[in-house]
Amino acid sequence: DQSVCAPLPVLGRDVSVPLVTGGEVTYAALDYAASAPALQRVWDDVAAYAPYYGSVHRGAGYLSQLSTDLFENARRTVAEFLDCREGDQVVFTRSTTDSLNLLAATLPADCQVFVFETEHHASLLPWREARVTFLDAPRTPQQAVATLERALADRDPHGPALVCVTGASNVTGELWPVRELAAAAHAHGARIVLDAAQLAPHHPVSVRDLDVDWVAFSGHKLYAPFGSGVLAGRSDWLRQAEPYLAGGGASRKVTRRTDGGVDVEWHETAARHEAGSPNVIGAYSIASACKALTEAGFEALVAREQHLVREVRAGLARIPEVKVLSLFGDDAPRVGVLSFVVEGWNSSHFAAALSAEYGIGVRDGLFCAHPLVRTLLGGDPGTQGECGAPEAAPGERSLNAIRVSFGAGTPDEHVERFVRAVG
Ligand code: PMP
Repeated sequence: DQSVCAPLPVLGRDVSVPLVTGGEVTYAALDYAASAPALQRVWDDVAAYAPYYGSVHRGAGYLSQLSTDLFENARRTVAEFLDCREGDQVVFTRSTTDSLNLLAATLPADCQVFVFETEHHASLLPWREARVTFLDAPRTPQQAVATLERALADRDPHGPALVCVTGASNVTGELWPVRELAAAAHAHGARIVLDAAQLAPHHPVSVRDLDVDWVAFSGHKLYAPFGSGVLAGRSDWLRQAEPYLAGGGASRKVTRRTDGGVDVEWHETAARHEAGSPNVIGAYSIASACKALTEAGFEALVAREQHLVREVRAGLARIPEVKVLSLFGDDAPRVGVLSFVVEGWNSSHFAAALSAEYGIGVRDGLFCAHPLVRTLLGGDPGTQGECGAPEAAPGERSLNAIRVSFGAGTPDEHVERFVRAVG
């Protein structure tokens, strides 16, 4: 396939790990859905900037000015990467979890929230203080849209409402019908936020084209290092809300009142929700990753990843003991994220064996999406560990799963080794 490009250089690509059988092998990082290895290019950009970094937003010195420019330019780069609308704000946060909690803190009074029970806990739990309706797991994308439409039709049409939906599942990798869900939300006067934690690293995201009101993603899944994330989108709810964090940088003017109290005027820009000294390197590295993906040709990276998805699917389909998990059917389009169970195996033991015997790093457990895993596996996985792996007794059906995930830095050999190892 001529459109398939070479994998992008990532950190850790040459790391050797010991095997229980003796010897060593190059580590195959197949847990991109948890955290993708940072691109070498991002690391190089950060290293090039490091000698020059200085205080941001507060300094008159040359290096402070430089850091401030880099930080503010990072916002513009992210806005371009997400194809934001005029007037949209880009707030730098710690992560997707932080971004969605920030949005939850800006909900207007009496806002109704609609969220599918299949969401990652980061998009399921922040709304619990609001009037939230949890929607049943759909079994087709069309059913997802119909379920949402029904729920919205029943709501009080005058009050504010928000729909929160994930673009690509962190468990099944399946793509959700975001554009259709956004159209349904807007037709009923509701807003929509897209959890793009798993979508943005695997697929170009256009806020304008999808017509979502906000999008959230994490740097560490988009080939940047840990510690930074983004909430981008409409500014009105953000501007009207109390700051997510109170402190320096968020305030424009603070005065002592004659009665002894303190008055504050908050900024109306993204700074309103970025109190404290910002993570300049985090923002800069996200921007660097956005540029690297764009320059490499995101379409070609998607083509490459889809080629790997086909390899994994075809390989797993040849193994009768393997059951790949899906809500929308085995042939549903998905990003490079697949979960499965292996008959006769406890998933944790299986994942441990892939590591010890083949140097392959995958994830096992419930993937911080308990209701979804429960639906997919048809049982209660218990409560041991938020994202962990409950033990199945010998001979018992495994109530957790194994997840393999990959992306722009994955060479074919990793996927081939994985399919061979599972077989
Ligand atoms: N949403 C989805 C779909 C995810 O996969 C994840 C991370 N597994 C999150 C949200 C949370 O991301 P973070 O841990 O970076 O906050």
